[in-house]
Order: sequence, then structure tokens, then C-alpha cells
Amino acid sequence: MPLEKTDAIVLRTVPWSETSLVVTLWTEGFGKISAIAKGARRLKSPFESALDLLSRSSVVFLTKTGDTLDLLTEAKLQRRFRSAQRGLLPLYCGFHAVELTNVLTEDHQPLSGWMDWLSLTLMALDEGECASSATLRFELQALRMLGLLPSLTQCVGCGDPIDLDRPTVAMTTSGGGVACPACSPVQRNVLRITTQTVRVLQRASEVSLNDLEFSIPETAKSETRFVMEHILNQLSERRLKLLPFLEELKR
Ligand SMILES: [Zn+2]
Repeated sequence: MPLEKTDAIVLRTVPWSETSLVVTLWTEGFGKISAIAKGARRLKSPFESALDLLSRSSVVFLTKTGDTLDLLTEAKLQRRFRSAQRGLLPLYCGFHAVELTNVLTEDHQPLSGWMDWLSLTLMALDEGECASSATLRFELQALRMLGLLPSLTQCVGCGDPIDLDRPTVAMTTSGGGVACPACSPVQRNVLRITTQTVRVLQRASEVSLNDLEFSIPETAKSETRFVMEHILNQLSERRLKLLPFLEELKR
């Protein structure tokens, strides 16, 4: 049973026994793991606040084989998420980012860059960055890292470049992106959206850790949320419970 040490962000905690929790963590190097934290529910928990949701902590865990859960032996808080003090919206956006991570990723499958984007998004929300922009940027980067980014420049049917000089474009939320006028009639789950929205989604997908500059124009807020709700509901099979709480991002 090897002992592993890594940085982690707390995605979810569930009571396991009267005194223990099962914690789901996104880790640097090991991807998503679930581990038992013995004593974490005691008043004097050995983990203190290192297992609070959205916290970034350095953890030590024992990996188990087969279906047995890993065992968390140490957790030390590095950074606490403080956005609750700013109001409910940044808090919900933080919860949404960790839920998205929990629902869309597989156990023990590290994804390059995920830790950085998740950590940076929680920090941006903490620092009062526009919650709409920070959330959309994370969602598009998450889709990119998962290899699920919708096609935003080429038709999903024929591969032709999409004419972004038209006022609106057809987008299929189940077929993976935009469709040209010839192909859109045979696509399923088609939304007709403005080209401004397509451009905003494109920009959010193209930012990098070295160049984070991205903000949503006010006029695109509502429709980008509408599109993301459709895409994320399809991908997660409606397992994302925080999405309905993000209505305020549309305003
Ligand atoms: Zn086409």
C-alpha cells in the first residue's frame, strides 16, 4: 500500500460513519480520488478545516487496491475558499466548478491542467472577478481538457467553415457544435444562437494559463448560459445540480 503525497481540492464530502467522512478530492497527479478520512467528523478532527468544500490542501493518502477506498492519513489546509463572504453567487459558482469536476471526470485519471484551472477559478471568484466570465472560462477549459469542446468554427455535418457574418448560427448540443444551413435540418437538439455567442464561446475556449484575459459582454451573458446549460445537461445526463442556481449569471 503506497503512501502518496499531493495537493488536492475538496470536491465533496459524505458522512461514512459517526466519526468518519468519505472525501472526494481532485489531486495533482492522481486525478479524482475518494478516500476515507477517519475521525473527520469528530469535534476535534485531526484534519481541522482542511477538508472543507472547495479548500485547497496538501494531503497524504494510502492507496488501496480493488474496490476498497483509499485512506486519507493527513490533510493540511493551504487555502480556504472565502467567496461566501461576497454573497451567494460566487459561492454557487465555486460549488458548480467542483461539481462539474466530480461529475465529468473519472476516478484515477489525471487531466493535465485541471488542477491549475480549478484552483485559478476558485481564486478568481474569491477575488471578486466577474462570476459569469470566470465560470464560462472554466466550463470551456474543462470541455477542452476532456476532449469534449464543441466545434465552433466548422460545421459538424460537412466540416465546412461556418459563416460568422450571419446574425445567427445553428448549434447542436448533442451533436458537438455548430452546423451550416445545409446540414442543420438533419441535426438533433438544434439551438439557433447569435454569432456573438459563438465568438464568446470561442474566446473562452482559447484562453490559456498564461493569458487569462476574457470577459463576457453584457449582451451575451444570457444566451451563453442558455447554451452551456444545454451542453452540460447533455454531457452530464442532468447530474449537475448546481446549474439551476446559476440563473443570476444571465443578468
Ligand atoms: Zn455542413
